[in-house]
Amino acid sequence: MSSFSGWIKTIDYPRYQFSKAVSRRIKHHELVGYLVELSIQPVKKVTTGTSLEKRELFHFSWGNGPVSVLLWSQMHGNEPTATLAILDFFNFIQIEKESEFLKWLSTKLTLHFIPMLNPDGAERFQRRNSLGIDLNRDALDLCSPESRFLKSVKEAVNPVWGFNLHDQNPRYSVGSTDKVAVISLLAPAFDSDRNDNQVRNRAKKLAGFLRQEVEARIGPHVGRYDDAFGSRCFGDNMQSWGVSTVLIESGGWYQSPDKPLIRELNFRMFLDAFNAIAADEIEELSTEPYESIPFNGSLMTELKLENVRLGDRRTPDPMLDRRAHPPVSVDLAINYPPMIDWVTGVERMIGVVADIGDLSPLKAMATMDFSAYLIEPMKGNFMPMPVTTDVIRRSVLEGYDTFFYPSATDPKRLRSQIAIAVSLFREDFFSEHHTTSLLPGERASFRILDPGTREVLSIWINGFEVYNRDSGWQKGEPWVMPNRVKALEVEL
Ligand SMILES: [Zn+2]
Repeated sequence: MSSFSGWIKTIDYPRYQFSKAVSRRIKHHELVGYLVELSIQPVKKVTTGTSLEKRELFHFSWGNGPVSVLLWSQMHGNEPTATLAILDFFNFIQIEKESEFLKWLSTKLTLHFIPMLNPDGAERFQRRNSLGIDLNRDALDLCSPESRFLKSVKEAVNPVWGFNLHDQNPRYSVGSTDKVAVISLLAPAFDSDRNDNQVRNRAKKLAGFLRQEVEARIGPHVGRYDDAFGSRCFGDNMQSWGVSTVLIESGGWYQSPDKPLIRELNFRMFLDAFNAIAADEIEELSTEPYESIPFNGSLMTELKLENVRLGDRRTPDPMLDRRAHPPVSVDLAINYPPMIDWVTGVERMIGVVADIGDLSPLKAMATMDFSAYLIEPMKGNFMPMPVTTDVIRRSVLEGYDTFFYPSATDPKRLRSQIAIAVSLFREDFFSEHHTTSLLPGERASFRILDPGTREVLSIWINGFEVYNRDSGWQKGEPWVMPNRVKALEVEL
């Protein structure tokens, strides 16, 4: 073991976290500003390219060692976690540039970074580039300038090692377990028979080593990504071009869309990998820790409420022949996709019903037993007047979570008058959002009642508790909702 392994394990990550960059929606112009700040010597800008929409692509390098390592992040525009971790690593280099570790590392390795290979996609927070091309299916055709840039850097620096840095669906389980795949790893295949050669074996050994390091920190939350050969994919082709390549997929964590924990794990994996490569420790390792990583399993839900007795808040409607139903016993799954609050422009999580019914096979990141309660969906109403927090609270206690305001009202002003996280829609959307049930895709809003006395024990709006009989009201900011909030279903 290198003499620095122990030091690396104990470093205090918050010291190195580049704290200006937080959001997963990091844009190219922000990245440029951060890189200007961080790329003072000794991190050097080597070459640049341009995206289809003329955003600058960067290749930075650090170190003077004989072994070349290439890392590229965010070839899918909405997969930013490793880009943020690269900023952390640059920050680490600035802070620790006089350390024995970095002095030693710089004589062993030359590190090459391409942060945010797909800035046009990042601008739109979408996977593909501005022409709709998936860069990770463009390794052979190279029809996009972004793909050509990656290939040209690879040709120029002739890396021994490659790191293909992505984010995966945040809800994969690790195999058949009920653990979420926080990180998934892959030593991509170089042919359809998934044969081994020295290049791929080295990648397997490194991936197995990283698995052990991550699991030592967070337990068995490492999965293996689908290893089917992708003839057009960069990771697979890098492997066939002789670059020992590891795919790192940042997964998910309960109610954590910006993934600070997983960003830290990426940063630590960089350190662990660079150290082990520089100390020439990989060849002697076994591939077994890699081969035994369970593949990514099924998609989990974030929160499962089990044995919910679901009452009915629908008004009997003779036109639709709808009648209140007796309570039924179900499970309720809630996911928390982030959504942009269009008043503040900031992302917030919104709890949305993912599924309802017998959900016994569905794995969850968190589970609560609701068998002791009766729950009733909340519903919508026209905005009560005067608009004060007290008036709204009364209405919430009566079972309303969604309020429709007159078209002439300024929603920003309205929002500032209420200190509770209810949903506000303009009144023309009344029919569309006057929901009174917990169908998949609906916002998860309900009252929790004592089944005997019907006393209100708790109230959840959009997946979060806003009121509890014992602890009172949670302060919060209303959601001013755009229409078509049901489009959230795509993130379920
Ligand atoms: Zn990806």
